[in-house]
Amino acid sequence: MKYALVTGGSRGIGRAVCIKLAQMGYQILINYASRTDEAEKTLELVRQAGQDGELLKFDVSDARQTLEALEAWGDAHPDEYIEVLVNNAGIRRDNIMALMPEEDWHRVLDITLDGFYNVTQSLLQPMMFHKYGRIVNMASVSGLKGLPGQVNYSAAKGGLIAATKALAQEVARKNVTVNAVAPGFIKTDMVEGLDEAALKKTIPANRFGTPEEVAELVGFLVSPHAGYITGNVVSINGGLYT
Ligand code: NAP
Repeated sequence: MKYALVTGGSRGIGRAVCIKLAQMGYQILINYASRTDEAEKTLELVRQAGQDGELLKFDVSDARQTLEALEAWGDAHPDEYIEVLVNNAGIRRDNIMALMPEEDWHRVLDITLDGFYNVTQSLLQPMMFHKYGRIVNMASVSGLKGLPGQVNYSAAKGGLIAATKALAQEVARKNVTVNAVAPGFIKTDMVEGLDEAALKKTIPANRFGTPEEVAELVGFLVSPHAGYITGNVVSINGGLYT
């Protein structure tokens, strides 16, 4: 059995990644925060793709909850380890900086950066011990370019990109790769409420991307074929920012 953990796997990009990794032969651990109904739908789709999986409900920004959930999984699978980790859980709380509540600043950074630390730190040693691991961090064009109205989100994703580059250098010798994916606008719940007609005029491809397109890229980065790609940020944005 090969295991992959996808944080924020209940909906959107995370769900598409769960399905892609199931098609690649992985058993899928589907993390989510609150939407059990959606997480169960993802599990059903994983099963339709021919693999099994399980739901792991925890808030990635909460160190105790995360550790308890991952330790419980480890206790139930003493001879197994999680060889693929996709740090995908994320939220946005957009506002101009002058009006941004402190809570919105912290929540976005906590889920992205503390979430990255809490999950990755627990799974890294087994990957290094087994001399094989794949980590993909879901960043954003905002973390590369910086977008107005998203100072918190841009800071979080920019930090995640820097963490990706640093960690990649620490673990490359152990055959563990660490990369980031930086999507532009992807059609999920996260972009609900945005003016798609106006925004797509700013995208050279003249459309939003799909979660499945992002999942294909993640699938390649976690595959054995991508063993010499590490510390990279791969944009997937229809030409929005190059
Ligand atoms: P989405 O449809 O809103 O889904 C977000 C996922 O994250 C859900 O599964 C949600 O779980 C989970 N989540 C949120 N907070 C969590 C927490 N504290 N702990 C554990 N899970 C948590 O978002 P999406 O568009 O698929 O985005 C996925 C990732 O891609 C995010 O990191 C986002 O920043 C990034 N991204 C998205 C776009 C885009 O245009 N959509 C562009 C660039 C980057 P529940 O279902 O339980 O709430």
